[in-house]
Amino acid sequence: MNFVTCPKCGIESNKFFNLVCRDCFFETFKLIELPLILHVSICSNCGAYFHKGRWENIGNLEYVLVSAVENVLQIHIEAKDVKVSLEPKEITPYVYIVRVDVDAVINEEIVHAVGETEVRIQRRACDMCSRESGGYFEAIIQIRAAGRYPTEKESRHCSALASRVIETMKKKGDRLAFISEVREKKEGLDLYIGSMNVGRQICRLIISELGGSFAESPTLLGMRDGKNIYRITFAIRLPEFSPGDVVMFRGKIIHIKSSGKRVNGVYLEDGSRFISTPEELKGAEKVAKIEDAVLTVLVSIEKKAILVLDPESYETVAIKKPVSFHADEGSEIPVLKTPYGIFSLICS
Ligand SMILES: [Zn+2]
Ligand SMILES: [Zn+2]
Repeated sequence: MNFVTCPKCGIESNKFFNLVCRDCFFETFKLIELPLILHVSICSNCGAYFHKGRWENIGNLEYVLVSAVENVLQIHIEAKDVKVSLEPKEITPYVYIVRVDVDAVINEEIVHAVGETEVRIQRRACDMCSRESGGYFEAIIQIRAAGRYPTEKESRHCSALASRVIETMKKKGDRLAFISEVREKKEGLDLYIGSMNVGRQICRLIISELGGSFAESPTLLGMRDGKNIYRITFAIRLPEFSPGDVVMFRGKIIHIKSSGKRVNGVYLEDGSRFISTPEELKGAEKVAKIEDAVLTVLVSIEKKAILVLDPESYETVAIKKPVSFHADEGSEIPVLKTPYGIFSLICS
């Protein structure tokens, strides 16, 4: 083996790093470098972290602190098999100490280094939260219904669906996923939404759950950085009739079972299926809700008719016997009274 004299300390060695012996090398070697103090800006409202000139929602406070320190931690360029562990400790809500442990291999020797940095947290409102509180919006969703006003239940349902989309999009990192204003009007709800894309997703979900359709109309607001800036209005039309409605259409009474691009239902007279579209159903007359059905006594069963007691006047009335009608005389059966007569609900 060749022993050579270290130019720095004069001992003889066969292991040289950067032209000096092992001890001289490690005497001045620094595995990690960390600033003593690190300033971090965090949004006091949504917890976003300001990094490289922009706000990002990357995770909870601990995660932000660890990432912030990782971003400034410098590890020697020749280190191999580097293992880093960071542990934040709260001193005050505005000051944390983050301890850093690093294991690495330098010139086939295992090296360990410990350091810590004081993180000072500045809390302020991020760009999106200031937009949100400033009433910023890119889209207005107008929730209306065809030929009527939306019911309170429908409005509540639409609000809940909008919140669901906002939550999902927020989790996906869409920082414009917020509702900046809700206006309740007699003719329906207006939702002011931070982003067009989120507005469109909300409309799609509402239509898929409640039926109906929506149309988009953009308004040009002006130019910014050479690009046209639009605001978009989404006009939702909930269907005229909703499940549970009983309508008079072309001389027949129909129980609406579902309503979307197609309308499905059942003819109360004979229990046969009804399929149509909202456009076709325009002009149908709503005559009752299926919840209005009551139980009444089946007096007798004839060949083509059944006799029941009118649930209001208690007079015996004959109604057309539905196909495949099974019930015992004297038992109670559900019926629905409409301005067009009484209908048995036994096969609908
Ligand atoms: Zn030496
Ligand atoms: Zn924020």
